[in-house]
Amino acid sequence: MSGALVAFPTETVYGLGADATNASAVARIYEAKGRPSDHPLIVHVSSMEKISRWAREIPVYAISLARDFWPGPMTLVMLRSELAKDFITGGQDSVAIRVPAHAIALALLSEFENMGGLGVAAPSANRFGQVSPTTSKAVEEEIGEFLFEGDLILDGGPSLVGVESTIIDCTSSTPKILRPGAITREMIEECIGQSILENTNSEIRVSGSLESHYTPKAEVILGAMAEPGEGFIAFSTVKTPDGAIRLASPATIEDYARTLYAALRSADAQKIKRIAVLQPEGDGLAIAIRDRLTRAAGKEII
Ligand code: AMP
Ligand code: MG
Repeated sequence: MSGALVAFPTETVYGLGADATNASAVARIYEAKGRPSDHPLIVHVSSMEKISRWAREIPVYAISLARDFWPGPMTLVMLRSELAKDFITGGQDSVAIRVPAHAIALALLSEFENMGGLGVAAPSANRFGQVSPTTSKAVEEEIGEFLFEGDLILDGGPSLVGVESTIIDCTSSTPKILRPGAITREMIEECIGQSILENTNSEIRVSGSLESHYTPKAEVILGAMAEPGEGFIAFSTVKTPDGAIRLASPATIEDYARTLYAALRSADAQKIKRIAVLQPEGDGLAIAIRDRLTRAAGKEII
């Protein structure tokens, strides 16, 4: 992977990877995504033993989290080592690291490490602000035109989790959830034996850090029934309103996460203008789904 890009499947969403030590390769990720350069990337490695290269301080609780949830949908942010340059951390003194739970991703990472590679920097393989891809076809549609000969898109079928990893800030004495995901607050608290903070819809965020993200072209309306001709996403127990176009009918919360992004994409493919969504209630994965939906709707998270 000498400076090339490789889009690869993970259990959360597809990533767009490059050698995390290669400035010009990483610059191509930013170009392909159209992403501002102060927006950091996640370094992917094949096992937790590899994190001491990238982090200079690893709290004891981070080791517990890594043992319990890696490989898996969890990203740990730690104080960076000298290896983690500004071009992957967005100029911050911290670096985000993950071991994905996906056979193809792990094979890619191990192979790369066998060749002397130290880590693969990868954000989600979508244009900045758009919906993350959960299939190789969605990757092709998002960033295909920015790939050259020698770059690759690996196909691993649809992502099993479907929403991005839980990001946990491990730079102070207590961990803090920066982005909710499939590793839930309850799971983290049980693992480390203490209660933690979560940036959820119920917590106030500094104004200015709010952004619309994960947005399809269609307008997303939360908590409303669909009118005729509009898209509709709700649990399978809810009937489709007359004339509405059903985009997803998940039976479980895991199904909801897994099918959400494909449903938003299919609305755009069908040129649907508005999508009415009945959000899942409750804690756990529902918090991550509501977080993404709120951003998809372009609403402030307050
Ligand atoms: P993705 O959103 O999947 O494209 O992955 C990149 C995300 O990881 C960024 O948007 C940040 O939210 C998060 N991230 C990466 N590095 C850091 C860091 N050093 N501190 C805080 N968040 C980070
Ligand atoms: Mg992303």
